[in-house]
Amino acid sequence: MSRTPPMRAVTLLAGAALLATSACGAGSAESADGGRPEVIAAFYPLQWLTEQVAGPDANVTVLTAPGVEPHDLELGLQQMTKLQDAALTVYVKGVQPAVDDAVSADTAFDAASAVTTIPAGGHAGEEGHDEHAVSYDPHIWLDPSRLATVAGKLGERLAAADPGHAQAYKDRAAAAAGALGGLDQEFTKGLSTCASKTLVTAHEAFGYLADRYKLKQVGITLDPETEPSPKRLSEVAALARSEGVTTIFTESLVSPKVAEVLAGEVGAKTAVLDPLESKPAGDYLSAMRDNLKTLRTALRCTA
Ligand SMILES: [Zn+2]
Repeated sequence: MSRTPPMRAVTLLAGAALLATSACGAGSAESADGGRPEVIAAFYPLQWLTEQVAGPDANVTVLTAPGVEPHDLELGLQQMTKLQDAALTVYVKGVQPAVDDAVSADTAFDAASAVTTIPAGGHAGEEGHDEHAVSYDPHIWLDPSRLATVAGKLGERLAAADPGHAQAYKDRAAAAAGALGGLDQEFTKGLSTCASKTLVTAHEAFGYLADRYKLKQVGITLDPETEPSPKRLSEVAALARSEGVTTIFTESLVSPKVAEVLAGEVGAKTAVLDPLESKPAGDYLSAMRDNLKTLRTALRCTA
C-alpha cells in the first residue's frame, strides 16, 4: 500500500522545481554577517550602486541572477520572503512587474521616483503592447547624471534605515555621485561632435542616454521579447537609410538576428551596446565606458 497517488507526485515535483528556482536567485542570506541590515537590489545597475553606497555596513544581495533578462523575472517563495524581511529593497518601478507587486511600500526605494522621467517610447502599429505597467520609460540607469541623483537619495534612505552608520552611507553616496558625474562629463564631451545622432537599437532601452546627450533613439522593438512587425522593420530600414546610419546596435541578452537582417538590408554593421540589464564583465562604470567607445565609433564622433 505504499503507492504514491499521481496527484501527490505532481505536487512534490512542482515543489522541488520551485525550490530549485528560488535557489538560483538571491541565495540564502538569512541573518548573515553579524546583524548588518539586509538590502536587496532588484537587478544589476542597482546592485552596483547599492554596493557602492552600502559599503561594509549592509549586506547587499541581488534578485536577478547574472545572465537573466530582468524584465520577465519571476519570484520564488524564498525571494518573496526575503523581500518582506529586507531593511530596504532598491528597485525601479516598471521594470519587473513581479517585484513591483511584491515590495512593501515602507521598506522599498523606487529609484525612478528620485529622477525626472521621460515618457515611454511607443511605435505606431504596436497597440496593446504593455511591457511596462508605467507610463514612463523605466531605463533610468543609462543616464549617469540621473543615476548620480539616485545615489544621493539612496544614501538618505540607507541612513534612515540604519542610523548608526548614517554619515558613512551619505559619504559613500557622495563619492558614487562624484564618479557618476565624471562619467557624465566623459559622455558629454565624447558625444559632442558626431557625424550622426541616430541610434538604431534592438530594444528601446537607451531613451535616457539619448535624452541626456541629445541623440535620437530608434528602437526596433520596445522590449526584448517582442518580434517586430514587417511594417515596423521597413519603417526602421527607411529611417536608417535616410539618416545614413552605419551601425545597428544589438545587446548581449537578446538574439542579434533581427538586427543583423536589418543591418544587411541597409548596408550597416552591428555592434553591441550594453543596456546593463545584467552584470557586465567589468562593472557599471567600465561597461558604460565601453558603450561610449562603441557609440563614438558608430556615430563618427571626433571631439
Ligand atoms: Zn529593458
